[in-house]
Amino acid sequence: MSSSEFEAVIGLEIHAQLLTKTKMFCGCSTKFGSEPNSQTCPICIGMPGVLPVMNKNALEFVIKTGIAMNCTIAHFSRFARKNYFYPDLPKGYQISQYELPICQGGHLVLHTQDGERVIGLTRIHMEEDAGKNIHDNSDKYSFVDLNRAGTPLMEIVTEPEIRTPAEASMFMRKLRSILRYLGVCDGNMEEGSLRCDANVSIRARGELALGVKAEIKNINSFKFVEKAIEYEIGRQERVLLDGGRIVQETRLWDVATGVTKSMRSKEEAHDYRYFPEPDLMPVVVSNEIIETIRATLPELPEDKVKRYVERYKLPLYDAELLTNEQQTAKWFEEALVNGVNPKAVSNWMMGELMRLLNENNLPIDKCKVSPVHLTELIALIDKGTISGTIAKSVFEEMFNTGKRAEGIIKEKGLVQISDEGSIDKIVEEVIQKNLKEVERYKGGEVKLMGFFVGQVMKLSKGKANPAMVNDIVKRKLDGKATDE
Ligand code: ADP
Ligand code: ZN
Ligand code: MG
Repeated sequence: MSSSEFEAVIGLEIHAQLLTKTKMFCGCSTKFGSEPNSQTCPICIGMPGVLPVMNKNALEFVIKTGIAMNCTIAHFSRFARKNYFYPDLPKGYQISQYELPICQGGHLVLHTQDGERVIGLTRIHMEEDAGKNIHDNSDKYSFVDLNRAGTPLMEIVTEPEIRTPAEASMFMRKLRSILRYLGVCDGNMEEGSLRCDANVSIRARGELALGVKAEIKNINSFKFVEKAIEYEIGRQERVLLDGGRIVQETRLWDVATGVTKSMRSKEEAHDYRYFPEPDLMPVVVSNEIIETIRATLPELPEDKVKRYVERYKLPLYDAELLTNEQQTAKWFEEALVNGVNPKAVSNWMMGELMRLLNENNLPIDKCKVSPVHLTELIALIDKGTISGTIAKSVFEEMFNTGKRAEGIIKEKGLVQISDEGSIDKIVEEVIQKNLKEVERYKGGEVKLMGFFVGQVMKLSKGKANPAMVNDIVKRKLDGKATDE
């Protein structure tokens, strides 16, 4: 068997930190970066005799996510205790959900090179985060910061329906986009507010049974989602091709070396002894609550993509890029005034605008160019007032100063030269200066056409109307050629 006869099977388990102001079961702040242990109380440090109370906001955020991802929202769900011992877990158990999660089923649509791929979800449930152990401040001691203990999380579990590393990272990006639209999670993988464990197995192509999986932990960027899974698929292929067997285990992605390393095998796996949480009421959600929450959902990226393709005739690629962030989509839609061509707006946004925003590390809502000012620039190009090349430098000036196109063009004398006589004069000048090249052109080197056009554009400081320059240069050269 060769490696191309294998197929990868991938399922993701994603933890998303919810953007609530307070923790899951107490009133402590969830603010990031405060003095260690300053945001704690008897509930989140696990003192005996205290009672947790569910954060209603967290529940609403998870229901919102469930609706957005086409899940069935459970009318009745329950919290469960997941028992294990670790210093960052003061109660000795994590409150999570087990056999009755708040959301079941659902799916996410990906637009891949091979077409539309629908990735099924198994469930979404609520749980609390653990604290953080700190090992590098002293040789003698380890420290525990419980500020994060009790922070609300949701865990999103996919079916094993992802097939390639690229699909996995695409799934994560799409998910992040949705969570940010909903305002339920900031989606920052580097800072850990969106974390992903990848379950990976391989099997012979065409085989229906699942292979033995490895679970990869510690993946903290979109790039690493792809890299870690890719490495792991390769590793499993090598094991099987060498006649070995895959063992079920948890592996760690090592950023420094770019490999996954075994962390613990199935035999060492925890038995969490789940049981229903006796200190919390079951979560009862009526249809009315679900419908009230549904009404607060914004138009989601997937619907926007459809609308942009159908109504504005944008390519799928453009539609996906423009809708990835809500602010970008809003900017695009605000530019669609005065009968402007949507594709022209899209081109400017995906090209110059995004380039300059990236270079200046600016979010689009801090951009000095307003959407309407871009449409003014596009109108000036359409009217022939400036050329496309000049427009780029005008746009950069707009971006840096916030001035409008018309003012910049007047101020700098950038109006396009479109009268026949002026261009004719420049072309004649270029021809007289380059008689040798004229000879060569006449001798059959027709590609010298580009040289002449270039010289004319240069002499006109880029202001000559390029289409007219082309026409006149060609007419003159060919005319001269037939003169002989
Ligand atoms: P576990 O009991 O080890 O937690 P689950 O059945 O709960 O495993 O699945 C956890 C995740 O692993 C899910 O995202 C699921 O889709 C994925 N998964 C399950 N079996 C496989 C497999 N054989 N190969 C790849 N992914 C798998
Ligand atoms: Zn607390
Ligand atoms: Mg599981």
